[in-house]
Amino acid sequence: MRFFISQPMSKGAKVVITDAGICHQLARVLRFAAGDMIIVLDGKGSEGEAVIQSITKDAVTVKIGACGRNANEPEYRVTLYQSVLKKDKMEWVFEKCTEVGVARFVPVLSEHSVKQGVNFIRARKIAQEAAEQSRRGIIPEINEISSFEGAVTEAKESGAVCVLAHNGGEAEHLRDFARAHDLSGGVSVFIGPEGGFSDAEVAHASQNGFHIVSLGKRTLRAETAAIVACFSVVT
Ligand code: SAH
Repeated sequence: MRFFISQPMSKGAKVVITDAGICHQLARVLRFAAGDMIIVLDGKGSEGEAVIQSITKDAVTVKIGACGRNANEPEYRVTLYQSVLKKDKMEWVFEKCTEVGVARFVPVLSEHSVKQGVNFIRARKIAQEAAEQSRRGIIPEINEISSFEGAVTEAKESGAVCVLAHNGGEAEHLRDFARAHDLSGGVSVFIGPEGGFSDAEVAHASQNGFHIVSLGKRTLRAETAAIVACFSVVT
């Protein structure tokens, strides 16, 4: 079992975990006891073996054993700028794209967005659980909602390679694009809402140096497009 404890760790150190969710999970749900081992992560890419010394429903004390860097983080930082989708679809994107390896999510309000809000508490919990489950070294950040123009400016200024997925037309497939470009400075991926990006949004991104890319001949649901796009650029 893996848990993000967001505390620094070093071999031999004793760490007291007081996070209510983790303590409940360990003591009540999993019924772990002194002597059992878990893996703890600091949320910054390090992880360590930890043997439980004492355990109650409010506090779990562990002794850290072997520590090291988590080896499962992608080589390049992928930021997913996802137009806000209906609740369950958006939550699906947070979960699945965390598993695929996204470093940061930026929910975006675009012209055709039907839904305007995100439950951030739920979203962050989903991302944390997906990060633990998929053995990530970090929990992806989930930023506040941004306007489309604000997101374009932020992505452009970040220095990452910026791509916007748009169906129709003769654009290059993102997979081929990723193979042909240096993504070591990170990659920002824009995926539209259920109704797609407007022509004005595509033009605005293009004018700001974005590459308009395809995800194949078939029109994918937005949440499928997010996974396919992230998978196409993650290494
Ligand atoms: N209703 C729109 C489809 C929107 S799909 C239409 O019929 O045109 C939602 C989003 O997924 C799109 O904005 C785009 O970002 C992405 N997407 C889906 N399929 C795609 C494809 N084949 N190529 C590129 N992007 C795609």
